[in-house]
Amino acid sequence: YQDKIKIDSQVKSARIEKDKSDRATVENAIDPKTFNQLQKFIRNGTLTKIDGCLSTGKEANIYYGINELTGKEFAIKVYKTSVLVFKDRERYISGEFRFKGFKNNNKINARKLIKVWSEKEFRNLKRLKLNGFNVPEPYELKSNILMMEFLSRNPVDEEESSAAAADAEKASSAVNDEAAAAESVEDAIAPLTIKSSENERGWPAPRLKDYEFKSDQQIFDIYQQILVNMRLMYQKCRLVHADLSEYNLIMYKDGEIYIIDVSQSVEPNHPMALDFLRMDIKNINDYFQKKKKIDVFLEKEIFKFVI
Ligand code: ADP
Ligand code: MN
Repeated sequence: YQDKIKIDSQVKSARIEKDKSDRATVENAIDPKTFNQLQKFIRNGTLTKIDGCLSTGKEANIYYGINELTGKEFAIKVYKTSVLVFKDRERYISGEFRFKGFKNNNKINARKLIKVWSEKEFRNLKRLKLNGFNVPEPYELKSNILMMEFLSRNPVDEEESSAAAADAEKASSAVNDEAAAAESVEDAIAPLTIKSSENERGWPAPRLKDYEFKSDQQIFDIYQQILVNMRLMYQKCRLVHADLSEYNLIMYKDGEIYIIDVSQSVEPNHPMALDFLRMDIKNINDYFQKKKKIDVFLEKEIFKFVI
């Protein structure tokens, strides 16, 4: 973090600042390695633009990226590399033998850990996708950066986008010149601007928490959809989400529930798995009972149903 990179949201351009004392802003800055990797995605033609921050969280920031030539959109999850955020993860990690090697004198090796943590989310997403679950398709993982399918509020329909992609195929050969592309790399990255208006592209589908239900019937349907998902996730995928709530479910196309944020998900043989499952069930029940005022099933009945 010695040379940290700040993005000026007014001018939308990147600059590098040498500043060793100003630690307060580090959390929301992008460290140089990460910034380099983001630039690579632009140089190698994966993306043409990184435009806006979808979310800043304790453990990760999510940015919006697009390849304007193909129309393909990306959610770019950047796991934070600062040590502080690891405290919370301990309870998920301590039960897993795979994480044993990351502690030295009871101190966690943050760099190594973040790598395993992001690999875990990537793998869990792949596993869920392969088993037919509604999750953002994981595309690529480069150190602490996970590139995945962007769940848009205004999805472009398939025919339209494949026609656009065909046009783009022709156009892209002209732009494929690496050197030419590299010149505009800095202009192409403005990740620290927070999206504040519902522009046509780059606006994400709502989290369940923010979704305006159309009817009581719809609320109940969605509630059931989530319970069935929990069961199938356990039975087919051998996974307990372990952070399931209205914050980690996305309402796509007004009726399809998508599961996100699966970095902490565990297998049933994790010593805490069933505790995590009970917690997931409680979160979902609380939300639907207290916030959405519907009759919910008993938690222990749901537990039996899932396992
Ligand atoms: P965190 O660990 O910070 O909670 P999440 O993976 O839950 O990270 O992502 C944070 C937020 O970013 C989500 O609540 C959602 O609004 C948005 N988001 C995450 N992934 C996607 C995606 N693939 N498409 C659209 N929005 C997303
Ligand atoms: Mn989350």
